Amino acid sequence: MNENSQSPQAGAPAADFSALPLSPSMLATLAQLGYDEMTPIQAASLPLTLAGHDLIAQAKTGSGKTAAFALALLHRLDTRRFDVQAMVLCPTRELADQVTQEIRRLARAEENIKVLTLCGGSPMRPQVDSLVHGAHVVVGTPGRILDHIDRGSLELSAISTLVLDEADRMLDMGFFDDIAYVASRCPRERQTLLFSATYPPGIDKLTQKFLRKPQEVKLAERHDSTSIRQYFYEVDEGERLGAVGRLLDHFRPASTLAFCNTKARCRDLVDLLRAQGFQALALHGDLEQRDRDQVLVQFANGSCSVLVATDVAARGLDIAQLEAVINVEVTPDPEIHIHRIGRTGRAGEDGWAFSLVSMDEMGRVGNLEQHHGGEFEWHALAELRPASNERLLPSMVTLQMLGGRKEKIRPGDILGALTGDAGFTKEQIGKINVMEMSTYIAVDRAIGREAVRRLNAGKVKGKKVKVRMLTE
Ligand code: ADP
Ligand code: MG
Repeated sequence: MNENSQSPQAGAPAADFSALPLSPSMLATLAQLGYDEMTPIQAASLPLTLAGHDLIAQAKTGSGKTAAFALALLHRLDTRRFDVQAMVLCPTRELADQVTQEIRRLARAEENIKVLTLCGGSPMRPQVDSLVHGAHVVVGTPGRILDHIDRGSLELSAISTLVLDEADRMLDMGFFDDIAYVASRCPRERQTLLFSATYPPGIDKLTQKFLRKPQEVKLAERHDSTSIRQYFYEVDEGERLGAVGRLLDHFRPASTLAFCNTKARCRDLVDLLRAQGFQALALHGDLEQRDRDQVLVQFANGSCSVLVATDVAARGLDIAQLEAVINVEVTPDPEIHIHRIGRTGRAGEDGWAFSLVSMDEMGRVGNLEQHHGGEFEWHALAELRPASNERLLPSMVTLQMLGGRKEKIRPGDILGALTGDAGFTKEQIGKINVMEMSTYIAVDRAIGREAVRRLNAGKVKGKKVKVRMLTE
């Protein structure tokens, strides 16, 4: 889920990484990754962080915040020493995984930089063993990091950079006290960087407590209004959920993120969409980690058309290629609204942002318009007609195979089995995600059943396997 790239905003001055005091090997790595220019948040923050300042940085999801702090912390590392010198706190395991991956990619020219993920939901023992072997950077959730500190398995005395990533979301999740504890155990002489997509009031409490004379970089959200088409629809309360399916049938976006204000709304909407025959999945805070993984994998590999989420659940996720965002309800907070719709129309692609508005919510829309500095475009539900007799279905389906990283499965093993004995073509196979205990395989919808049958009849790496259709 980490493959979409963010191109710098059109019209911004060229921001070349070579203007920064980075090593030639780091510049080469950036070029290899296709990071040709800094994104605006990187251009604004890196000169400050590389000079050693504390920083408060706010920019929308997908703007390249990870590399903005990763380059700063890698710059300060002394790789000849084998102690933990940088720590990144993240709200969830999957965000921690994304951050770890990005740091590793950026550090790959330096052979021996060790980056370790420390999150709940995985056993302590292997983490403790890895810490004994030594790491330069740890990335983790506040709760699990705190556990390691209390057990004495994580030594903080050499920490020179502390990063609070997705600070807004960590606050939402009630991590304030844990963060405070962890920060209080880090050396006073350190650089502290706080990154956030939004700037809710609680953040000031964090910054005042843990940052020293921080510089601030806040990037006002500027969406290219030509690339996001925002349509507003007035609805009666009774038509609201039904209107979502009508939007999907009319516009037929390949992938949609639908925001609800509550978990209960998410569930109701997913139930309705599924009853109507859409491939919809819900993402909300109550899901077990494994279920969250399954939902995100299916959305990212093209076998789910609609992801229904709360703001909290969707924040920070690096989700590529959204054709549409639907505000099933209007949010009272203009910043959150802008953040939601900024998920579509990324990197110059066109996107739709639809908002369903009841009479009760008109006041909120007034607020949004003020913030926006202009009036919105209203349309009538009656304009929405199905564009086709066929139900909108995603192009892929997901198969789940038992066995994953633990069994040393690699994507090539699966691709080999499917294109070898099973006789499918490479074009019929999509993303293959190898997780801890399971592997998820996206294949063309048309071959789903047959692929399950042939995989179960054959072998992967010389062994019988158990495969089932995950997409219903
Ligand atoms: P954020 O934390 O702001 O939500 P991420 O750090 O996850 O954003 O970055 C979003 C995507 O942009 C990632 O896939 C990342 O690899 C890519 N990216 C980051 N910096 C650049 C750059 N300078 N040029 C091109 N792509 C970039
Ligand atoms: Mg991020």
